[in-house]
Parts: sequence; structure tokens; C-alpha cells
Amino acid sequence: QSTGVLEMLEEVVDRFSFQMQEKEIHPEIFIEDGVDTAWMDRDQIDQVLDNLISNAMKYTPEGGKITFEARRVDDGMIAISVKDNGIGIPKRNLDRIFERFYRVDKARARNMGGTGLGLSIAREIVRAHGGAITLDSELGEGTTVTFTLPTQEQGGEGK
Ligand code: ATP
Ligand code: MG
Repeated sequence: QSTGVLEMLEEVVDRFSFQMQEKEIHPEIFIEDGVDTAWMDRDQIDQVLDNLISNAMKYTPEGGKITFEARRVDDGMIAISVKDNGIGIPKRNLDRIFERFYRVDKARARNMGGTGLGLSIAREIVRAHGGAITLDSELGEGTTVTFTLPTQEQGGEGK
């Protein structure tokens, strides 16, 4: 269904507001002019966003920042990104990050909980919507995950 992007991002932030307050993490939302709605299965995209924000929370120290951004990209697509200024991911691990059960080194993952499925599920969902998902990270600087969604219903999918 057609969903307001700003509204959706505000709702995700709301769902995590308690956890964010506890960790003194400051969320910010930037919406580029001209971004309005995107076409999606709302429950599925909520699942994607919940995983991205919970990853950002897990791997960002107290007092950190999480930024949501939505902008228009070509071909009637919207790009949504979730950016943190947390611990980041070593370059050598980046190419496997979307694999099932893949988690960056056990030592740091052990006390964090999780199964390593979140990003692989996110990628499946985004691809089923005709979009793509990418992750950029700089060790010690932070991580940005960006995914795209169509603004309009795409031929035949009925999402
Ligand atoms: P699950 O999502 O199933 O609870 P998970 O969060 O460990 O478990 P993914 O969401 O697939 O699994 O993430 C895979 C791995 O990528 C994580 O274990 C973590 O090492 C790394 N990672 C993901 N997001 C971030 C981030 N924002 N900052 C640093 N590392 C990250
Ligand atoms: Mg996760």
C-alpha cells in the first residue's frame, strides 16, 4: 500500500524511544523535499526498519546518534537510510554481511544477542519490493544502511 515516509519513520523512532532514552541516543529524521509516499507492504518494511534500528542501537555506544534519511533517487524510487556513529564493521567482513547467520566476530556478537538473520531477511524483503539494500561502514566511525523502494505500485506485484 501507499505509505507516508515521514510518518512511517516517526513511528519507528517512537517504537524505540524508550530504549533510545535509556541509551541517550539521539534520533534525527531528514526528509528531502519532494519525498512523500512509497509503495510497500508496511508490515514487512517495519520489520526491515526495526532490524536496522535495533542493529544501530546495539552497536552504537551511549550518547550516540542515529539518523534516518529519505531522498528521491532516479526511476521513481525513494532511498531510505539508517545511519549510526557506532563501532562500525571491518572492511573484510562487509561482503558477507547479508549472508544468513553471518555475524561479525563472535567475541563482540556474543553479548549482544541475535541470530545473524536480520540483514538477510531485510534483503529478501527489499528485493521482493523491487528495491536494493546496501551497507557502508567505517570501523570506529559508524555504519549506514540504505535501501530503496518504489514510489508507485510496480507491474504485477500487488504489494
Ligand atoms: P538478528 O538481527 O537476527 O537479531 P544480528 O543483528 O546479529 O541478529 P544482522 O542484523 O543480520 O544480525 O547483522 C549481522 C551482523 O552485522 C551483526 O551481528 C553485526 O556484527 C553486524 N552489524 C549489523 N548492523 C551493524 C551496525 N549498525 N553497526 C555495527 N555492526 C553491525
Ligand atoms: Mg539485527
